[in-house]
Amino acid sequence: MEKRFVYADNAATTPMSETAFNAMKPWLTENYGNPSSLYRIGRAAKEALNDARTVVGKCLNAAEPVNEKNDYAPGEIVFTGGGSQADNLAIRGFMHGPSSKGRKHIITSKIEHHAVLYTCEALEKEGYRVTYLNVDKEGRVDLEQLKAELSEDTALVSVMAANNEIGTIQPIKQIAELAHSVGAKFHTDAVQAVGHMHIDVQEMGIDMLSLSGHKFRGPRGTGVLYVKKGITLEPLVYGGGQERGLVSGTENTAGCIGLAAAMKEAVEGLDEKMGYVKKLTDKLVKGIMENIPYSHYTGDPVNRLPGTASFVFEAIEGEGLILRLDNAGVCGSTGSACSTGSLDPSHVLMAIGLPHEIAHGSLRLTLGEQNTEEDVDYIIETVTDVVKTLRSMSPVWENGHPNLTAATELHAH
Ligand SMILES: *Cc1c(COP(=O)(O)O)cnc(C)c1O
Repeated sequence: MEKRFVYADNAATTPMSETAFNAMKPWLTENYGNPSSLYRIGRAAKEALNDARTVVGKCLNAAEPVNEKNDYAPGEIVFTGGGSQADNLAIRGFMHGPSSKGRKHIITSKIEHHAVLYTCEALEKEGYRVTYLNVDKEGRVDLEQLKAELSEDTALVSVMAANNEIGTIQPIKQIAELAHSVGAKFHTDAVQAVGHMHIDVQEMGIDMLSLSGHKFRGPRGTGVLYVKKGITLEPLVYGGGQERGLVSGTENTAGCIGLAAAMKEAVEGLDEKMGYVKKLTDKLVKGIMENIPYSHYTGDPVNRLPGTASFVFEAIEGEGLILRLDNAGVCGSTGSACSTGSLDPSHVLMAIGLPHEIAHGSLRLTLGEQNTEEDVDYIIETVTDVVKTLRSMSPVWENGHPNLTAATELHAH
């Protein structure tokens, strides 16, 4: 097959859509006013920013706009510099703010993004108590454990809508109901979910929700925290008082407008685009599983993001796999994080109970609407070839089978 370039790492970031780029352009060039300025080009920027807020609010089905300017007042939509900032503002801002009402307990899960996990760890050092929920082997949080851990001291439950490594979708509506039963609030990191599955903050009982522009073909460095009316947070950045005083600093007007344009485009065409992406992903999973022996699918086979295909291959090192795929023009990622200087495979693969020596051979391929059937054929052929080559050179592969004893010894440390 002819060599191609195939981008299959859409969970890491996505190529910006033409619509988002065109919406941004004038706000980077002729419309450069500071939204806080009183003259005409400043007011125009402020208005465009609030229109973007309205678009985001509508996509999430946030509460109806209440003032004559059509704002989601008093600011349920807070623009941030990305998903990580939104997560930090939600968790730290809530626990430090008055809405936590002096409660000191947070419940989250073991498979959250580090923007959530490390924020919780930082709060533990300040004396807050954090419970990290277990997940089952397909990555679903343990609801019985959640019920048992909830108490009158629980201020916040934070569970992601969908996982970034294995694609598992959590029962967030049920989790929100359980949180509310003890008077706790519910935050969800929906960075992978927004633009890829239906989200309705009112219907799902969500009090706070994080999203990121670049995960649905908007610009990198833009995000939103949805904060339900009535919740008061401690600011993330102090200064000029922008974004309800929560994230001070002159607004990234073009970025917010690009985020809103990309979000509208993603949400409006959701069913059609995701139906297409899911068909490609199903074909990819089937091809890989049929072609490669000693391979395992990871994540929930039913309740998963439409574009996520994640695997582990026995007797394979993820890093070598990624580099060889790159040579063949395929961009994917691995949860075996030798590249980050750690010998441990990802916390997500550990939490779903994979043995070390198998988790080291993980591959995540995440497709988007810009991928084609030909891309999928090429990925299947390329991954099959690369896995075969790597195994032929591996000390833990013998006569077409993994040598499990050797594998265990290799990774024992
Ligand atoms: C990408 C991602 C983030 C971080 O978003 P940034 O905009 O890159 O800061 C947080 N949570 C999840 C689940 C993600 O996939």
